[in-house]
Amino acid sequence: MDTPGTFAIQLLKEKLAIPALSGEEEAATGYLEAQLLKAGVTPFRAGPNVCAFSPKNREGQKLLMLNSHIDTVKPSAGYTFNPFAPFEKDGKLFGLGSNDAGASLAALIESFLYLCTVDLPFNLLLVLSCEEENSGPNGMKLVTQQIPHIDCAIVGEPTSMKVAVAERGLLVIDGTAQGVAGHAARDEGVNALYVALDDIAVIRHYAFDKVSPLMGAVKKTVTMINGGVQHNVVPAECRFVVDVRPNECYTNREILAALQAAVKSTLSARSLDNKCSFTPAGHALRRCAEQLGIDTYVSPTTSDWMRLNVPAVKMGPGASVRSHSADEFVYLEEIRQGVKTYIRFITSLTMNNSPTPALPQGEGAELPLLWRGLGGDRNNEQQPHPSPPPRGGSRTPPPLEGAGGRPEQ
Ligand SMILES: [Zn+2]
Repeated sequence: MDTPGTFAIQLLKEKLAIPALSGEEEAATGYLEAQLLKAGVTPFRAGPNVCAFSPKNREGQKLLMLNSHIDTVKPSAGYTFNPFAPFEKDGKLFGLGSNDAGASLAALIESFLYLCTVDLPFNLLLVLSCEEENSGPNGMKLVTQQIPHIDCAIVGEPTSMKVAVAERGLLVIDGTAQGVAGHAARDEGVNALYVALDDIAVIRHYAFDKVSPLMGAVKKTVTMINGGVQHNVVPAECRFVVDVRPNECYTNREILAALQAAVKSTLSARSLDNKCSFTPAGHALRRCAEQLGIDTYVSPTTSDWMRLNVPAVKMGPGASVRSHSADEFVYLEEIRQGVKTYIRFITSLTMNNSPTPALPQGEGAELPLLWRGLGGDRNNEQQPHPSPPPRGGSRTPPPLEGAGGRPEQ
């Protein structure tokens, strides 16, 4: 009899042998689709993304999305082996994407297949997303447009199975100070460097009043400066870069506007999309983590969560520090524990009794509004019909020992 994680480990080994760089996931999505079919679940596509509903879904129940991403970054320099030729050694599985986010992806698939046999008080949607690493237009963005009624989500990323209840956003701002060129010997022109230095001082000391109990104050650091062409020419232009780590009290757009109003230089954001995400205290997902005694924390990195506008937690097997590094690996034991913890977590969720939390803030509020409150009614017409598993020749989901049913007390 298979123990928890056996199916996920085998699936991951095969998946890692298929290159899946962002935007080039077609072979990997085809493989995963075939695996779901073989396991008795009928997948469907939202763009290139592979999705499936549990055949146990019932009308009128809230929808929990289980998500992780298929794609990987390009292999970093310093690999001592072929990153697309996975292998097992000393209890570890090596390969590009094994840790980020293959382990989460595989563990979530096994958990989902198991949970497809369980009656839950909410519905399940599995989403295996593309283009997470490059923030592409065909990834989670597309999923939320095509399936606009998700109530909450578990995002699978390597967190050592701790529960991230918030993600810190990122805002990178390019500043350009304009002056007028002139000869340094004659006091001519307007020195763009001095304009930039004044603005940098303003940015350095600018106080954003609202401090988050979860994330603290908005952090901003000027990290680059570049200006001047020759010793005797008053520079006409000076450029600088500000690294901002927002909190959930401000949208990225608000932060940019506030700083722009305070300086003479022209500020432009490289992207406003890397928003903060957080799940309000008291939400079912957070309560569940607390009840199970799982550590919660604020993650410094973003994920597909920032493309959602519903409460979520980020959790998955593997360690964040191993992501995007050479000779990437995940411990097999992490995958096994991951499957057990996912199932324990999901079967412990009691969503129906949740209070209605506040709408998460941030740039995502500009996306189609997905959030309808946990107490709201579902528009069933929008829900694609869950497909029953094929009858003949279908494989039963992997059996699990000691991880199924109700949570262990
Ligand atoms: Zn990832």
